[in-house]
Amino acid sequence: MSDFDDLLAANQTYAETFDDGGFDGVAHAGVAIVTCMDSRIEPLAMLGLGLGDAKIFRNPGGRVTPQAMEALVLGVHLLNVKRILIVPHTRCAVASNTEAALRAKIAESAGQDASWLDLTVVVDDQARALAEDVAKVRSHPFVPEDVKVGGFIYDVDTGLLNQKV
Ligand SMILES: [Zn+2]
Repeated sequence: MSDFDDLLAANQTYAETFDDGGFDGVAHAGVAIVTCMDSRIEPLAMLGLGLGDAKIFRNPGGRVTPQAMEALVLGVHLLNVKRILIVPHTRCAVASNTEAALRAKIAESAGQDASWLDLTVVVDDQARALAEDVAKVRSHPFVPEDVKVGGFIYDVDTGLLNQKV
């Protein structure tokens, strides 16, 4: 039971001043973000947004996977999403290593063969993958024309977003 005690204690403190109960789940700023799981990224803060403003979907690399696409369709049709930002970033592990290299690192960490392990989010050309992901969202039959879709690279060393698509 003690493995999470520090985090649960922090949560108690958080709940003491929590003031947002009963809030709805709509994206109040009309924004959805697909970005990487990287701990250097604060999706809301980097856009000047706060609690309740945006839908956020994260995975390794910030890729538009089938699950990300599901989230975006739900966001657009049920949760007020009008603008979608696809945001991979600089120095991302899945864009700066090959699938084989990542498998080798995992195998070393785990002490067992990882040659069978799927790493479907690995990209060999980040700019091309971003362009493809943006096109995938724009051309999706359940994403209407008036929903704006942009592709950006987030620089983890400057905090700046750089629009590419
Ligand atoms: Zn990353």
